[in-house]
Amino acid sequence: MPELPEVETIRRDLAKLIVGRKVLGIETNSPKQVQPSLEMVKKAITGTTIKKVQRRAKIIQIFFSNGKIIIVHLKLTGRLLVRKKEDKIDDWQHIMLSLSGDKELRFADSRKFGWFRLLKDEKELQKILKEFGPEPLDGLTLPVFQKILSSTSRPVKIVLMDQQRISGVGNIYANEALFLAKIDPRRPAKKMTKQAGEKLYQALEKVLRAGIKYRGASDQYYLDALGHKGFYQEHFLVYGRQGKRCLACSGTIKRISLGGRGTFYCPQCQK
Ligand SMILES: [Zn+2]
Repeated sequence: MPELPEVETIRRDLAKLIVGRKVLGIETNSPKQVQPSLEMVKKAITGTTIKKVQRRAKIIQIFFSNGKIIIVHLKLTGRLLVRKKEDKIDDWQHIMLSLSGDKELRFADSRKFGWFRLLKDEKELQKILKEFGPEPLDGLTLPVFQKILSSTSRPVKIVLMDQQRISGVGNIYANEALFLAKIDPRRPAKKMTKQAGEKLYQALEKVLRAGIKYRGASDQYYLDALGHKGFYQEHFLVYGRQGKRCLACSGTIKRISLGGRGTFYCPQCQK
């Protein structure tokens, strides 16, 4: 699933590629992914101009000149691609936003769990966004992070990925941050020392910034808005490295399942 660095990379691409363009129309071959309905979205945004593109948590927000907003969640396999209208059809292309300048914003999604949702205004947007925890790179302070950790005895990795506590962190970057901070993913969050909490806070920021720098991790479906892969998968510290030598010691990376998700760690380094 695209996480903060992947969604942020797409947002930055979209800000360059679609802001200022006029919406000429919208089509879909997967109506359930356009909410509340294709007709309502078409009526609301056709003829408007795209004003800005923002991100909060894993949600991309597209703002239109009449005050309407579309929020997009990529879920497991979603892609937002900016193409020329005559470019060949993309794999799993389901929602097509026709834009001025012969451009098309395409939402492609193999698993079809992602969605486009029309909101009537900023107030409705804020209501949705307040369900999410603070942004790890913008707003999550160390004292708040320590408080989040001390409030629960759930495994620390699950806490990192809990969108209501901290937004945007998924399986890849949670694994990476815990490795960098040398913390066992199963450790109960509230049993962590202040020092370990601070190390994890710094590690989380570091891996998320690295993810953005390398334009996301394309170990599976993720592509940026131009259809290019990211590079962070070439820099994985621990994710997907089961059976391989630890990059920090002579140990071997182990894979376990935690909360149903593949969890990778070095039993020697991470305590
Ligand atoms: Zn190790």
